Amino acid sequence: MRKPIIAGNWKMNNTIAETEKLVTELIPMVADAKADVVICVPYTSIAKAVELTKGTNIHVGAENVHWAEKGAFTGEISANMLVELGVEYVVIGHSERRQYFGETDQTVNMRTKAALAHGLKPIICVGETLEEREGNLTEEVVVRQTVEAFKDIDANELANIVIAYEPVWAIGTGKTATSEQANDTIKIIRDTMAKLYGDKTAEEVVRIQYGGSMNPANVKELMAMPEIDGGLIGGASLVAEKFSQVVNY
Ligand code: PEP
Repeated sequence: MRKPIIAGNWKMNNTIAETEKLVTELIPMVADAKADVVICVPYTSIAKAVELTKGTNIHVGAENVHWAEKGAFTGEISANMLVELGVEYVVIGHSERRQYFGETDQTVNMRTKAALAHGLKPIICVGETLEEREGNLTEEVVVRQTVEAFKDIDANELANIVIAYEPVWAIGTGKTATSEQANDTIKIIRDTMAKLYGDKTAEEVVRIQYGGSMNPANVKELMAMPEIDGGLIGGASLVAEKFSQVVNY
């Protein structure tokens, strides 16, 4: 019912030359994918990635977007600028942005609204830190992050939004949440969306990925869980062979 979606998050990796090599390798490897395939790439790689993936099943995303139309925001990128380049998706509220760059629940909401206003599809990240999990705060944290992210967002936008549940302690650490942990927390997020938008919408429309050291060895088990609709993949998205194995799980 909900189409799976596998997205790579390259983070601050790959020059234009490296982008060309990786995307060229990847195109034939994922051509028959049953899932939606997205690569979220650094700003400098966007034009090359869009050029190379034209006419393929790979969609290109950015890794952040500012909420303002334009102005005195040195170092930032507007939704307009991304759309002009041919970007379709954008990662918003990644834990690395929350941890290192002052991202808050409010700015996640502002970025999401700006992205939607320009026809970009947000991939909104939520997830608890290790401290929060150990303090039994996982539910409180993901519910708060979800409710705040979706403030003033209309139900008819939900088909264009993906949520990524990423336990911060599992990102880039090689530690994966167990499939039960991931499924249980994603269920909490879906129940939260049901409270906001109704059961039918939460069940049929809202796609929720798992992210955190997803790789060829664990993707099958994670994707077999009823609540998990896809993956946001960091490290394993940097190697064509590995990313394609995740995509073709
Ligand atoms: C991520 O960056 O969103 C991520 C899940 O990274 P990794 O797969 O490397 O844990």
